[in-house]
Amino acid sequence: MNLNVNEIFYSLQGEGGRTGQASIFIRLAKCNLACSFCDTDFERGVRMSLEEVYQQIADWACRWIVWTGGEPTLQLTDAVVAFFKERGYLQAIETNGTRRVPTGIDYITCSPKQHFEKVRELIPEVDELRFPIQKGDPLPDTSILPKADRYLLSPLFNDQQMIPENVAYCISLIKHHPEWALSLQTHKLIGIR
Ligand code: SF4
Repeated sequence: MNLNVNEIFYSLQGEGGRTGQASIFIRLAKCNLACSFCDTDFERGVRMSLEEVYQQIADWACRWIVWTGGEPTLQLTDAVVAFFKERGYLQAIETNGTRRVPTGIDYITCSPKQHFEKVRELIPEVDELRFPIQKGDPLPDTSILPKADRYLLSPLFNDQQMIPENVAYCISLIKHHPEWALSLQTHKLIGIR
Protein backbone atom coordinates (compact mmCIF):
# COMPACT_ATOMS: atom_id res chain seq x y z
CA MET A 1 0.00 0.00 0.00
CA ASN A 2 1.23 3.48 -0.92
CA LEU A 3 0.18 6.99 -0.03
CA ASN A 4 0.72 10.20 -2.01
CA VAL A 5 2.19 12.32 0.78
CA ASN A 6 2.56 16.11 0.60
CA GLU A 7 4.43 16.51 3.90
CA ILE A 8 4.97 15.01 7.33
CA PHE A 9 5.85 17.15 10.34
CA TYR A 10 5.72 17.04 14.12
CA SER A 11 4.16 19.94 16.01
CA LEU A 12 1.32 20.85 18.36
CA GLN A 13 -2.27 20.88 17.20
CA GLY A 14 -3.00 24.57 16.76
CA GLU A 15 -6.79 24.66 16.53
CA GLY A 16 -9.96 22.91 17.58
CA GLY A 17 -10.66 20.63 20.51
CA ARG A 18 -7.17 19.10 20.58
CA THR A 19 -5.38 22.47 20.65
CA GLY A 20 -2.00 22.25 22.35
CA GLN A 21 -1.56 18.48 22.03
CA ALA A 22 1.54 17.06 20.37
CA SER A 23 0.61 15.67 16.98
CA ILE A 24 2.26 14.16 13.94
CA PHE A 25 0.70 15.77 10.89
CA ILE A 26 0.58 13.68 7.73
CA ARG A 27 -0.69 15.81 4.90
CA LEU A 28 -1.96 13.74 1.99
CA ALA A 29 -1.87 15.28 -1.47
CA LYS A 30 -4.93 16.35 -3.50
CA CYS A 31 -8.39 17.63 -2.68
CA ASN A 32 -11.78 17.18 -4.30
CA LEU A 33 -12.84 20.79 -3.60
CA ALA A 34 -11.32 24.17 -4.51
CA CYS A 35 -12.29 26.59 -1.73
CA SER A 36 -11.50 30.25 -2.42
CA PHE A 37 -10.09 30.73 1.12
CA CYS A 38 -7.89 27.61 1.11
CA ASP A 39 -4.52 28.36 2.75
CA THR A 40 -2.87 25.00 2.11
CA ASP A 41 -0.50 23.87 -0.62
CA PHE A 42 -1.52 20.24 -1.03
CA GLU A 43 -1.01 19.52 -4.74
CA ARG A 44 2.51 18.12 -4.72
CA GLY A 45 3.11 14.68 -3.29
CA VAL A 46 5.59 11.82 -3.19
CA ARG A 47 4.63 8.16 -3.19
CA MET A 48 5.52 6.51 0.10
CA SER A 49 4.81 3.02 1.36
CA LEU A 50 3.14 2.72 4.76
CA GLU A 51 6.37 1.29 6.11
CA GLU A 52 8.30 4.35 4.84
CA VAL A 53 5.80 6.67 6.53
CA TYR A 54 6.10 4.67 9.73
CA GLN A 55 9.90 4.79 9.62
CA GLN A 56 9.74 8.59 9.28
CA ILE A 57 7.53 9.07 12.36
CA ALA A 58 8.53 6.20 14.63
CA ASP A 59 11.27 8.09 16.51
CA TRP A 60 8.98 10.93 17.59
CA ALA A 61 7.60 10.41 21.11
CA CYS A 62 4.07 11.32 20.06
CA ARG A 63 1.50 8.62 19.32
CA TRP A 64 -1.18 10.88 17.79
CA ILE A 65 -1.37 11.12 14.02
CA VAL A 66 -3.45 13.86 12.39
CA TRP A 67 -4.42 12.93 8.83
CA THR A 68 -4.93 16.15 6.95
CA GLY A 69 -4.81 17.50 3.43
CA GLY A 70 -6.08 18.35 0.94
CA GLU A 71 -8.79 15.82 1.59
CA PRO A 72 -7.33 12.79 3.37
CA THR A 73 -10.33 10.51 2.76
CA LEU A 74 -9.38 10.43 -0.94
CA GLN A 75 -6.55 8.07 0.05
CA LEU A 76 -7.14 6.87 3.57
CA THR A 77 -8.63 3.37 3.87
CA ASP A 78 -9.60 1.09 6.74
CA ALA A 79 -6.39 -0.87 6.05
CA VAL A 80 -4.16 2.22 6.32
CA VAL A 81 -5.76 3.20 9.63
CA ALA A 82 -5.41 -0.39 10.89
CA PHE A 83 -1.70 -0.41 9.95
CA PHE A 84 -0.95 2.54 12.24
CA LYS A 85 -3.36 1.39 14.97
CA GLU A 86 -1.46 -1.90 15.15
CA ARG A 87 1.68 0.17 15.80
CA GLY A 88 0.08 1.99 18.74
CA TYR A 89 -1.12 5.21 17.14
CA LEU A 90 -4.29 7.14 17.87
CA GLN A 91 -5.50 8.86 14.73
CA ALA A 92 -7.39 12.08 14.07
CA ILE A 93 -8.67 13.25 10.72
CA GLU A 94 -9.50 16.67 9.31
CA THR A 95 -12.07 16.19 6.55
CA ASN A 96 -14.38 18.32 4.42
CA GLY A 97 -17.15 15.74 4.91
CA THR A 98 -17.59 14.77 1.26
CA ARG A 99 -16.57 11.14 1.77
CA ARG A 100 -16.89 8.38 4.33
CA VAL A 101 -14.33 8.39 7.16
CA PRO A 102 -12.44 5.08 7.51
CA THR A 103 -13.15 2.76 10.41
CA GLY A 104 -10.82 3.12 13.38
CA ILE A 105 -10.34 6.89 13.38
CA ASP A 106 -10.27 8.16 16.99
CA TYR A 107 -11.11 11.85 16.50
CA ILE A 108 -13.02 13.40 13.61
CA THR A 109 -12.84 17.08 12.77
CA CYS A 110 -15.25 17.95 9.99
CA SER A 111 -15.25 21.28 8.17
CA PRO A 112 -18.09 21.00 5.67
CA LYS A 113 -18.05 23.38 2.74
CA GLN A 114 -21.22 22.36 0.86
CA HIS A 115 -24.29 20.05 0.82
CA PHE A 116 -24.60 19.80 4.60
CA GLU A 117 -27.41 17.18 4.52
CA LYS A 118 -25.19 14.91 2.45
CA VAL A 119 -22.37 15.36 4.97
CA ARG A 120 -24.66 14.15 7.76
CA GLU A 121 -25.60 11.06 5.73
CA LEU A 122 -21.94 10.17 5.22
CA ILE A 123 -20.70 11.06 8.73
CA PRO A 124 -23.59 11.17 11.24
CA GLU A 125 -21.42 11.95 14.30
CA VAL A 126 -18.13 13.79 14.69
CA ASP A 127 -15.99 15.04 17.54
CA GLU A 128 -15.97 18.58 16.24
CA LEU A 129 -17.47 20.64 13.48
CA ARG A 130 -15.18 23.52 12.64
CA PHE A 131 -16.26 26.30 10.30
CA PRO A 132 -13.98 28.95 8.80
CA ILE A 133 -15.95 32.21 9.11
CA GLN A 134 -15.41 35.71 7.84
CA LYS A 135 -17.36 38.82 8.70
CA GLY A 136 -20.87 38.63 7.26
CA ASP A 137 -20.98 34.85 6.72
CA PRO A 138 -24.19 33.21 7.97
CA LEU A 139 -24.05 30.89 10.97
CA PRO A 140 -24.40 27.26 9.80
CA ASP A 141 -27.67 25.51 10.75
CA THR A 142 -26.74 22.80 13.27
CA SER A 143 -30.04 20.95 12.70
CA ILE A 144 -28.88 19.69 9.29
CA LEU A 145 -25.26 19.04 10.23
CA PRO A 146 -23.63 15.94 11.75
CA LYS A 147 -24.06 15.65 15.51
CA ALA A 148 -20.92 17.02 17.16
CA ASP A 149 -19.38 17.20 20.62
CA ARG A 150 -18.05 20.66 19.74
CA TYR A 151 -19.35 23.29 17.34
CA LEU A 152 -16.49 25.66 16.52
CA LEU A 153 -16.18 28.89 14.57
CA SER A 154 -12.73 29.59 13.17
CA PRO A 155 -12.24 33.23 12.09
CA LEU A 156 -10.42 33.40 8.76
CA PHE A 157 -6.87 34.72 8.90
CA ASN A 158 -4.96 36.59 6.17
CA ASP A 159 -2.14 34.10 5.69
CA GLN A 160 -0.44 34.18 9.13
CA GLN A 161 -2.20 37.34 10.31
CA MET A 162 -5.30 37.41 12.47
CA ILE A 163 -8.10 39.60 11.06
CA PRO A 164 -9.64 41.35 14.09
CA GLU A 165 -13.01 42.05 12.44
CA ASN A 166 -13.46 38.34 11.67
CA VAL A 167 -12.65 37.48 15.29
CA ALA A 168 -15.05 40.14 16.60
CA TYR A 169 -17.75 38.85 14.27
CA CYS A 170 -17.32 35.26 15.54
CA ILE A 171 -17.41 36.45 19.16
CA SER A 172 -20.66 38.28 18.49
CA LEU A 173 -22.19 35.20 16.81
CA ILE A 174 -21.15 32.98 19.72
CA LYS A 175 -22.64 35.35 22.31
CA HIS A 176 -25.98 35.07 20.51
CA HIS A 177 -25.62 31.32 19.82
CA PRO A 178 -23.68 29.86 22.75
CA GLU A 179 -23.82 26.31 21.43
CA TRP A 180 -20.88 27.48 19.29
CA ALA A 181 -17.36 28.22 20.57
CA LEU A 182 -14.30 30.01 19.22
CA SER A 183 -11.37 28.18 17.63
CA LEU A 184 -8.36 30.34 16.82
CA GLN A 185 -5.48 29.21 14.64
CA THR A 186 -3.06 29.49 17.56
CA HIS A 187 -0.20 27.88 15.62
CA LYS A 188 -0.18 30.99 13.42
CA LEU A 189 -0.32 33.30 16.45
CA ILE A 190 2.72 31.68 18.06
CA GLY A 191 4.63 31.02 14.83
CA ILE A 192 4.73 27.23 14.74
CA ARG A 193 3.67 24.85 11.97
S1 SF4 B 1 -11.64 21.33 1.35
FE1 SF4 B 1 -10.00 22.14 2.66
S2 SF4 B 1 -8.08 21.51 1.64
FE2 SF4 B 1 -9.75 21.27 0.13
S3 SF4 B 1 -9.72 23.21 -1.03
FE3 SF4 B 1 -11.24 23.42 0.64
S4 SF4 B 1 -10.07 24.37 2.37
FE4 SF4 B 1 -8.56 23.57 0.88
